[in-house]
Amino acid sequence: MDSELNGLVERARAAIAAGDVASVEAALGALTSSREAALRAATAEPDPAARRLLERAARARDDLPRRVLFDALSEVRGSADEARVTALAEPTLGPVAGWIHAYRRHISQRLARAVLIPTWECELRCSYCWIPKQGGRVMTPATAERAVDLLMTAAAPLVDLQFFGGEALLEAALVRHAMDYAEARAAALGKRVTFVLSSNGWSLDADALAWLKDKPVKLELSLDGDRHTQATYRRSNIAGEDSYTHSIAANVGPILDSGLPYDVIMVVQPRTAQRLAKNFFHIVDLGFERVQINFALGVRWTPGHITTFASELFAIGQEIERRRTAGQRVTLINVENAPMPVRLNGEIHVDWDGTIYGSNGFLNETDRKAEFAVGHLDDLSGFDRYWLDAPDNDFLLERTYPPEITANNLEVGKVLASFLKYLRPRLPSPGGPVRTQAPPAS
Ligand code: SF4
Repeated sequence: MDSELNGLVERARAAIAAGDVASVEAALGALTSSREAALRAATAEPDPAARRLLERAARARDDLPRRVLFDALSEVRGSADEARVTALAEPTLGPVAGWIHAYRRHISQRLARAVLIPTWECELRCSYCWIPKQGGRVMTPATAERAVDLLMTAAAPLVDLQFFGGEALLEAALVRHAMDYAEARAAALGKRVTFVLSSNGWSLDADALAWLKDKPVKLELSLDGDRHTQATYRRSNIAGEDSYTHSIAANVGPILDSGLPYDVIMVVQPRTAQRLAKNFFHIVDLGFERVQINFALGVRWTPGHITTFASELFAIGQEIERRRTAGQRVTLINVENAPMPVRLNGEIHVDWDGTIYGSNGFLNETDRKAEFAVGHLDDLSGFDRYWLDAPDNDFLLERTYPPEITANNLEVGKVLASFLKYLRPRLPSPGGPVRTQAPPAS
């Protein structure tokens, strides 16, 4: 925070502590004026380098009255002072019912995460993938830097930048540039940054692994199972090539030798439900001990498919139990999170063109796409504004898929959630600690 801004924030805090309504309003008004002046200066600046600095100042000043009030409220939470500070906040924030959701997010935020979409293109054409593979939708380095600047305005000291797509590694140079830039900015701001790289593995070659292993990055790798399943349902878009040969299955040694933490994500769809256990242990037997099962959303599962899914899950549970008892390290990642029928992705996303979304629902280009948009990098807003006001899971469930499909998918999700509830207490220890987080930034 620059010294001018620091002074304004301190003034507002002191006014809140003193409890004088007029002083609080004046101090919060000064924060708003400072933001407006920074916005005007950034917009008017013709020199790109100078403008970038002014943009940062404008972002840092965004939404500050609310955040200062939320900080003050969190400091007196549960004390006799809470009612007094709440009364001071209401002239600015309005009635509690209108901001309680954002306030709860504010006090629970430990880590801020933004997801970048470097490209919509991909080497694969997975049968369950809704993302239109449109050439030309490629993020520029300047947009990536501005997206990082946005994330770095978060109040949280720990920030996480995820690269998704399309296939992010098709734009490996951009991903690397964004990571380098994020590390430099985090160091300058005293923050810790980590990364998540989602990849189908095709472009995760020796070169990529060589530079990635020096980054605090976790790999989120996709593989749906054996050669038949992978090649049939995740077809290559490159003539004469098959997706299994170019998948992480053919690259296990280098990936594991890199020492990078990873999760393997496998998608099961109605057509592959009967091969779920076989495919799960195919991945495990390749050498990947951490595997997450995602069931395909947006498609209808018949009662027969759901029954098959349940019995395959049960078989997986029994086999994991047996293997762990025998000392093998195998982890069904889903067990690590609180079971929930369908949890849609509600992270803050920055698309290739700088549009900001409150979910990944925009990647499925329906006529409701605009409902997921929350802003644009050109707004020069701060990250926490988007995070505090981001839509909740119910909002996303109502808008991402047709209602009857969502209802059907919730039934599938209940089967998975109840299986996880059953499995959790039964599992013996996985056989020692497994690295699940990115290592600290150097
Ligand atoms: S690898 Fe991912 S982005 Fe590419 S087609 Fe498959 S699901 Fe879609």
